[in-house]
Amino acid sequence: MTDASHTSHATDATDATDATDAAREPRVAPALARTGPRDRFGRVIDYLRISITDRCNLRCVYCMPLEHPDLAEDDHLLTAGEIETLVRCATAIGFRKFRLTGGEPTLRRDLVEICRRVSRVPGVEDLAMTTNAVRLPELAVDLRAAGLRRVNVHIDSLDAVTLPRMMRLGRSERLLAGIEAAERAGLTPIKLNVVVARGMNDHEVADLARLTVERDWHVRFIELMPLGSSAEARLSVTHFVSNVDTRRRVEAALGALEPLPIANASDESDNFRVAGARGVVGFISPVSNPYCGGCNRMRLTADGRFHLCLLNDDEMDVRAALRSGRPAAARREAVRAILLRAVAGKPTGHRLDAGLHTRGRRMHQIGG
Ligand code: SAM
Ligand code: SF4
Repeated sequence: MTDASHTSHATDATDATDATDAAREPRVAPALARTGPRDRFGRVIDYLRISITDRCNLRCVYCMPLEHPDLAEDDHLLTAGEIETLVRCATAIGFRKFRLTGGEPTLRRDLVEICRRVSRVPGVEDLAMTTNAVRLPELAVDLRAAGLRRVNVHIDSLDAVTLPRMMRLGRSERLLAGIEAAERAGLTPIKLNVVVARGMNDHEVADLARLTVERDWHVRFIELMPLGSSAEARLSVTHFVSNVDTRRRVEAALGALEPLPIANASDESDNFRVAGARGVVGFISPVSNPYCGGCNRMRLTADGRFHLCLLNDDEMDVRAALRSGRPAAARREAVRAILLRAVAGKPTGHRLDAGLHTRGRRMHQIGG
């Protein structure tokens, strides 16, 4: 097993000209670019989550196998230039919000360059990243300077014994150091993602929520989702905890939570405040209270395929179009067309209630 930093070996040769060409190119569909594309159900899809690697240094029990993970070949990962081209195509049709994820995005040696290139694309209004924070102490300042706005940090426990039971190769003090570094660098608001698993960290949810009393952080409890058809998917079912129970535990310890007004209709988190607290307690409940109706997102897998809904298997390849060798304008037109088809093809929602879920992918390949 290796958790070495890496970058893709695919060539960036044609990408240098893409930015200048694209800047000269007239906006393809001005009305579309203003409003964002709508899917068949009338949802505006203007948020692209880009998995920039499927490698990870922690290998959480519900996400990625400890040994022999199914990883994309190096040259199947998109290059920084290809990611920039893709973001240019997405903004041209109205995408505004972007997130880098993985696997662990900080394992890409060219992460700072990716942030710089993406954040400078006209039309990018928000660039965030989801990370396990291990490498943030050395990266946070450079990432902020490169245009990254904020981070969501995944941390399932504050306890030195509990944390590695879930985030296998993680150490709580290293994750906390990464969170502090992100805050110092201004990658705020800091949002913490806590996946809750029965018999693992469910006894600790009140302690995690209590962090928001003193700190201006968002602590968001996430329900386990089954992805793949192996041990991770089974564990996500056997150790599932409903956020109804998590909220009950938090309130039993900290008192009734005050509901906060909905600031953003596509926020998947139901947000609350502990009385008198500085931060926010959130509940992300894809299983017990699906938010598919407000979905505004498209996902790109690490190996360059649009994944139309996190909990379905439908995908559309875009890597081949990026690498077709055709003139830059024709390539961009093809990429935009695939992205519009992907938006149009989004399913109405997941079918977990019917026992259906993503079989062909694990979470580390899609990015959460
Ligand atoms: N490595 C980064 C991290 O852990 O935040 C980014 C990628 S990770 C796949 C994105 C998010 O997916 C994590 O923050 C974690 O909360 C969530 N996640 C992973 N596996 C999950 C599962 N089976 N069910 C629910 N959430 C999961
Ligand atoms: Fe790695 Fe994030 Fe998956 Fe954990 S959840 S194994 S940190 S990609």
